[in-house]
Amino acid sequence: MTQKWDIVIIGGGLAGYVAANYLTKTNSSILLVEKGKNVGGRARTNKIHQQYLNLGPHALNKKGKARSILEELGINLNGKSPKLGGILIENNIEYAAPFAPFELFTTSLLNGKERMEWVAVLFKVMSIDPEKLAEQTFQQWVKQAAHSKKVESLLYILGRLATYCHAPEKVSAKVMVSSMKNALGGVLYLDGGWQTIIDQLHNKAILSSVQVQSHTVVKQIDSARQDEFKLVLSNNEEILAKYVICTTGPHELNEMLVEKYQDSFFAQITAIRGSTLDVALTELPNPKRLFAMAVNDPLYYSVHSTYARLSDDTKSAILHVFKYHHPDDTHDGTSVKNELEQFLEKLQPGWQQYVITKRFIPNISVNQRLPQIGDEQKLQRSKTEIPGLYIAGDWASSDSILADGAVSSGKQAAEELILIEKRKNGADYERRLPAF
Ligand SMILES: Cc1cc2nc3c(=O)[nH]c(=O)nc-3n(C[C@H](O)[C@H](O)[C@H](O)COP(=O)(O)OP(=O)(O)OC[C@H]3O[C@@H](n4cnc5c(N)ncnc54)[C@H](O)[C@@H]3O)c2cc1C
Repeated sequence: MTQKWDIVIIGGGLAGYVAANYLTKTNSSILLVEKGKNVGGRARTNKIHQQYLNLGPHALNKKGKARSILEELGINLNGKSPKLGGILIENNIEYAAPFAPFELFTTSLLNGKERMEWVAVLFKVMSIDPEKLAEQTFQQWVKQAAHSKKVESLLYILGRLATYCHAPEKVSAKVMVSSMKNALGGVLYLDGGWQTIIDQLHNKAILSSVQVQSHTVVKQIDSARQDEFKLVLSNNEEILAKYVICTTGPHELNEMLVEKYQDSFFAQITAIRGSTLDVALTELPNPKRLFAMAVNDPLYYSVHSTYARLSDDTKSAILHVFKYHHPDDTHDGTSVKNELEQFLEKLQPGWQQYVITKRFIPNISVNQRLPQIGDEQKLQRSKTEIPGLYIAGDWASSDSILADGAVSSGKQAAEELILIEKRKNGADYERRLPAF
């Protein structure tokens, strides 16, 4: 029998679940379909040998849109903020990272002149209006903002840390600088991992009668009929829907659409990518080393379990080592894995003896869009050329990326859909709307 729904949401990650939760009070019938066996998308956490591993390092901006929207939906975000300290490694020498006040004035990475320049640049980042940078690449902005090579490389490091982007010559300065501002406001590492966000969103959605169907792949979105979509699944079953919110990546969306509706902008989008080594150790050989980045190589290391409960055994340490990829580079998985393991060896000598579990994931898509100049015009609205079809996901927000982009675009798609329905059905629909 063909299922018929008011709203079908494709994808059970952050964007899909946030959209579902905003739509619940409309009394519409809502189906969320997810191709994976488990829900959560890239926000899922795997429990392996009693250790909770996020898919790579995950830090939630304290001042970002995701946190405030999730809290608005009643989601508890328990965890702590990592200290801003740590080390930077340049030519095998370790320096205190000048991201916190004490290290800023004491690190030997900077001479007196560079220190003053770095302080001034940090103030500039905090006070600048990112809207004014819409026409510049991040590299162009950095060249204007910094005089010394040291401060230039510190800006690139901070940019990578805040956004995972390692393509300053391509990426929009506006998104980079606004994300850096957010990151300087601090982040949270979450107890139990990001799955706790998904689980809460899922439970709330289910309690409000959203149907969730995992292991279900949408193959085609057929919009030929008026006021109704036909979704064809990979097992050739069909689902009918009045509205569709699609939270897959832009290329997957294009593949689901008939050729005349495929969008050339979506086709051009490249992702922000990287490789991650996720590790649980019985103990840290060097308990003082909690955070490090390389100055000249795009490498990251952080012990997340110091601040978040990520294990059923309180003594173990969960850490992530990460390599940021440039979109034009090709990467050999084996050599990236060796590089990450060697970086960890420098920081935690002999770590292999303490391994409870480790996992290497090469070339993973961190954000489905590398934000480039002019993208925002194409992404002002969630609605597409096809009436009734909306997009959401970390690539679909005009001004933010990562979880902030995924969560805010999920909310925006739901609100736009509600508004359209309100215009069509007037008071009747309005009566059913929640007072958010
Ligand atoms: C290594 C790594 C580190 C990260 N670190 C951070 C961080 O520190 N801070 C931060 O804010 N963000 C971080 N992120 C990004 C964050 O995890 C994502 O931006 C967010 O989870 C994306 O949510 P989404 O709903 O847009 O997409 P997804 O989570 O990808 O959800 C989309 C869902 O759609 C499903 N789907 C796809 N095609 C179909 C189909 N045809 N039919 C049915 N279902 C389909 C997919 O299976 C998936 O579950 C990180 C990501 C990674 C990978």
